[in-house]
Amino acid sequence: MKPANSVLSGFGTTVFEVMSRLAIEHKTINLGQGFPDEEGPESVKRMVDTATRDFPNQYPPMMGIPELRQAVAAHNKRFYGLETDWQTEVMVTSGATEALAASILALVEPGDEVVLFEPLYDSYLPMVQRAGAVAKVVPLSPPDWALPREALAAAFSDKTKFVLMNSPNNPTGKVFSADELDFMAGLLERHDAYAICDEVYEHLIFDDRRHIPLITLPGMRERCVRIGSAGKTFSMTSWKVGYVTAAPALLGVIAKAHQFLVFTTPANLQRAVAHGLDNEIDWYTGLAGELQEKRDYLAGRLTDIGFDVMDCHSTYFMNADFRPLGFNGTDVDFCRHITVEAGVTAVPVSALYAEAPVDHLIRFCFCKRHEVLAGAADRLADHFGGPG
Ligand code: PMP
Ligand code: GLN
Repeated sequence: MKPANSVLSGFGTTVFEVMSRLAIEHKTINLGQGFPDEEGPESVKRMVDTATRDFPNQYPPMMGIPELRQAVAAHNKRFYGLETDWQTEVMVTSGATEALAASILALVEPGDEVVLFEPLYDSYLPMVQRAGAVAKVVPLSPPDWALPREALAAAFSDKTKFVLMNSPNNPTGKVFSADELDFMAGLLERHDAYAICDEVYEHLIFDDRRHIPLITLPGMRERCVRIGSAGKTFSMTSWKVGYVTAAPALLGVIAKAHQFLVFTTPANLQRAVAHGLDNEIDWYTGLAGELQEKRDYLAGRLTDIGFDVMDCHSTYFMNADFRPLGFNGTDVDFCRHITVEAGVTAVPVSALYAEAPVDHLIRFCFCKRHEVLAGAADRLADHFGGPG
C-alpha cells in the first residue's frame, strides 16, 4: 500500500488527549488538558436553546452570521480601539483551531519559512509543515520566557512568510510586552512578513497586565491576522466557535481556505456567542479575577509541597519544576508517576516543544472549582509528604 501523508503520520496523538485518556483510565483528578469545570453565562446557554428553536437550523452564511461578525467588530473596538469593518474584515470559524489552519493554508506557499516559538501549541507545527513551509523555531526559555531578540532576528529571512505567535501564551502564561511586540513589528516590516496572532486567552490576564494585539501597532494593520475563541472567552471549550479579524485582502484568502475546510459554523452557537460578546461583558471580563485566585491557591499549595512554581501571568496554566522533589526522571515519567501513584494528572511541557525540549516542567491547569484544586493538592501532598 502507498503510505499516507508522511507529515501527519509522523505526529502522534496530541498530548492533551493522551493525558485525558490516562486520567480516565486511572480515575484521577485531571489538571492536564485545559478545560474549565464551571461553564459560561446562563444567558448564553439559554440563547442556544432559543436560537435552535426560533431560527433556521440550516447553513448560515459562509462568513458567519452578521450578528456575530458585528459583535466581533464591536469587541475589537471596545477593548482595543480597533476599527474593523465586519463585512470585509471579520469571519467566524469553527474554533480558533480552524482559524489557525485556514490562516496557515491561506498564507503558505511550499518552501516558505514560518517563524514559531517553542514551547508551542500542539496544532501549529503539524499544520505549518503540512502546508509545505519550513519551520524556524525560536525557543522561549524559563523562568521568564523573555523574547530572545537576537535569535528571533536570526530566524527571519527574506523567505519568512509569517510569524505564528500566541499571546497570552499557552503553556508559559507569558504576556508579550509592548517592547517585545514593537521589536516583532520591526522585523515584520523589515522582512515584509505577516503575523498570525493566536489571542484566544485575551481576557484571561492577571495582576493588572494588559493584552496588546499586535495588529494595533503602527504598520501592523495589513500584516496581522487576529484570532479569538468563544470557547475560552465563555468557558465553553466544546463550542468551537472562533473569529478572525484581518484586513480585507488577507481575510479574502483565509475565507477561501475556510470555505473548503468547513464552509460554516453552527448557527445556533454563533447566535449565542454574539449575544454573549455584546451582553455578558462583565462575565467574561470578571473571569480573570476568579482565575487569579485559583492560580494563587494552587501555586501556594504546590510550593508548600516542594515544587518550584513558576510565575504565571495569564491563561489557565501554571508550570512547576518537580526537580526539588527529588524525582529521578523526565517530565513524561513524572506525569505518569503522579497519575498512577498520586491520582493527579498534569501535562509534560516537553510535549509542547519541536526541537529542544525542556523536560523538567509540568503544566497544571487551574481553571477548576476550589474543591477540585484542593483535592489534587491534598493527593500530591499525601504522596510527596508535604503539608496537607
Ligand atoms: N490556541 C491555543 C493557544 C489554545 O490553547 C487553544 C485551546 N484549545 C486553541 C488555540 C484552540 O481553540 P478552539 O477550541 O477555539 O479551537
Ligand atoms: N488548549 C487545551 C490545552 O492546552 C487543549 C485543547 C485540545 O485538547 N485540543 O490543554
